[in-house]
Amino acid sequence: MVTSEAAPFAKTGGLADVLGSLPPALVEKGEEVAVVLPAYDAIDLRGAERIYNELPVWMDGARYDCSIERFMRHGVHYLFVTCPALYGRPGIYGDQRGDFGDNPVRFAVLCRAALGVASRIFRPDVIHCHDWQASLVPVYLKSTFRHDPVFYGIKTLLTIHNLGYQGRYSASVLRDIAVPIPEVMHPEGIEYFGDVNYLKGGIVYSDYITTVSPRYAQEIQTPEFGFGLDALLRSRRFFLAGILNGVDYDEWNPEDDRYLPNHYSAKDLAGKLACKKALLEEFNMPVDALDTRPLLGIVSRFAHQKGLDLVAECIQGIADLGVQMVVLGSGDAQLERTFGDIARARPEQFAFRGGYNEGLAHRIEAGSDMFIMPSRYEPCGLNQIYSLKYGTVPVVRATGGLDDTVTGDTGFKFFASTAHDLYNCIRYATMQFADREAWETRMRLGMAEDFSWAVSATRYMELYRRLRQAAL
Ligand code: ADP
Repeated sequence: MVTSEAAPFAKTGGLADVLGSLPPALVEKGEEVAVVLPAYDAIDLRGAERIYNELPVWMDGARYDCSIERFMRHGVHYLFVTCPALYGRPGIYGDQRGDFGDNPVRFAVLCRAALGVASRIFRPDVIHCHDWQASLVPVYLKSTFRHDPVFYGIKTLLTIHNLGYQGRYSASVLRDIAVPIPEVMHPEGIEYFGDVNYLKGGIVYSDYITTVSPRYAQEIQTPEFGFGLDALLRSRRFFLAGILNGVDYDEWNPEDDRYLPNHYSAKDLAGKLACKKALLEEFNMPVDALDTRPLLGIVSRFAHQKGLDLVAECIQGIADLGVQMVVLGSGDAQLERTFGDIARARPEQFAFRGGYNEGLAHRIEAGSDMFIMPSRYEPCGLNQIYSLKYGTVPVVRATGGLDDTVTGDTGFKFFASTAHDLYNCIRYATMQFADREAWETRMRLGMAEDFSWAVSATRYMELYRRLRQAAL
């Protein structure tokens, strides 16, 4: 596998969770898996072993000196590409000033280094590429290395975790990434309206494409969700499938979650109320009506995709319902200010914490009664799956993986991406909360759902098998 993130080493979102838990699930079922990712500065490489000293990547005139460190985790070879010139700095994709300007080169070199690994260190049958950062692997394989016998027989699979991020750059990057320009820089290749589009290259040149839920696989073939690539995806629809992400219940289980002050299960829910009380106290909020006043939780990147501006838009209505709400998230600065202002205006009802905080994310999942995800689109979404496990009833927009994982029995769904519909859904859920018995039934149904990797890993293995046999 080739990726820009993998938990617990480097994480900004769900992609990392998948790369932290799918590979071990595959190993458990008998596959041999190596995961290639950059050795970002922030990764603690103590305990890793230098297994390859000189793996230079040539990009036309430039030479990038890479070496490979290996860290074994749950039987998976995590192979870190060390290249201080490109990865030796704080941040995965950027810093306070925005995305790094050399990202197109950083991830082109990742792809070339991964091919170096494939030829010299770990010989794969299938290279499974994740998102745009790994999308040049099939491009190089089908162009630069098309006649290189070292790679004969290797198949490529691209998984799209989020079509909204495509790695689109001006054509001027072409001189830095060493692709054979006449061969690939055209509308049937990596060109997109005069620019270079990495993800498009992955979609065109990989042998098969998956995305992270069946519903999202359908949605991305429509103009509404296709981000300009829907026609291309429709043309590849016989080589496109959705495989739902699993989650790692070793990390996310209210029965033994190391971040929680109390534990609980579907059989004994008492600990959940204690978690709610502790969470409210953590934010100095009143704990006088634990049984009757619902606590709404949000943990999210603050990106337009996540629809949190809709929450801000109907916050007055939410306040008037008398509920409490705890929000953890970072990203859009304007939205961070808005939630900060809301919390300052009504500290007994609303709390906001910026930044990234793993422990608090777990405590919000456990302590809340409902979890709000009003995403405009959601390829799979993990938080609503964690919520189900934690007996925290999800209130979600019926899109992508949210629609595939939440049912009318386990949560609440709304359809139009508007503050009005979101508000009505929250209001309806709040009314249902008053019937404690029915609510607990709903919680238990959610807690009984199983989204562990066992099923999805088997589906990937079936796909790898078909790719190996070229029976596609
Ligand atoms: P996406 O990948 O689009 O961000 P997902 O729901 O697939 O959305 O995955 C989000 C993951 O990132 C979850 O594991 C969630 O708990 C975590 N997460 C998001 N924001 C934060 C935050 N501010 N602090 C801690 N964890 C966060």
